[in-house]
Amino acid sequence: CGIVGYVGPQVSGKALDVVMEGLGRLEYRGYDSAGVALVAEGDVETRKRSGKLSNLREELASAPLHETATAIGHTRWATHGGPTDDNAHPHRGGRDGKLALVHNGIIENFHSLKQDLLSQGVEFTSETDTEVVAHLVSQAFDRTGNLTDAMREVVNTLHGAFTLLAVHADAPQTVVGARRNSPLVVGLGEGENFLGSDVAAFIGHTRHALELGQDQIVTITPDTYEVINFDGTPSDGKAYEVTWDAAA
Ligand code: GLU
Repeated sequence: CGIVGYVGPQVSGKALDVVMEGLGRLEYRGYDSAGVALVAEGDVETRKRSGKLSNLREELASAPLHETATAIGHTRWATHGGPTDDNAHPHRGGRDGKLALVHNGIIENFHSLKQDLLSQGVEFTSETDTEVVAHLVSQAFDRTGNLTDAMREVVNTLHGAFTLLAVHADAPQTVVGARRNSPLVVGLGEGENFLGSDVAAFIGHTRHALELGQDQIVTITPDTYEVINFDGTPSDGKAYEVTWDAAA
């Protein structure tokens, strides 16, 4: 299972390529499904398929996505819900599906959170623990208008292990990530930034990395990154250079 996020210059439109390449480099970790989400012109588009990355590539060939500057990708190792197309990530949140979210790990208290959402009339399209988080972050975004604030509000209600990435149609050129008991690394580029569950996700593009500590959130745009703790206090993160040779 693995996670990749990317935000770069609007003109380059290479987000999908970067994310697919990253997912390829994370294949060694094992997975049963894969998917991507792109933010394009006030909309979020997703493609996801059970099985190998080649299935996702076929899907992308038959239903191409816009070239964009912002994307997230995921390979899934199913824990809640079988390895089906519907259970594959990204999961959408909100009535209009403007939020897309990927997750590695397990949300231990998803059942009670899901009951609350069901009683509000929220409709689910998967059996995953993850989809609960997508709806919660979407609702929090509708209240706060800020994806980082929305993520922070929600992660403080979750128990378990998670690396999460989210994008929202109304937060263009932004990817927000969060981690607890599960890894998340930032890759720092020139006019572009990366997120990965491991540096292999972006090693083809930059060796400047930043490791997130426990219970931290990072927000990346093409030219900025900002790390905060789950309590809202700022953090510098831990910067380092990737020295191992990952060309293979
Ligand atoms: N628990 C989530 C699911 O079953 C994420 C699994 C993973 O780590 O890929 O969909």
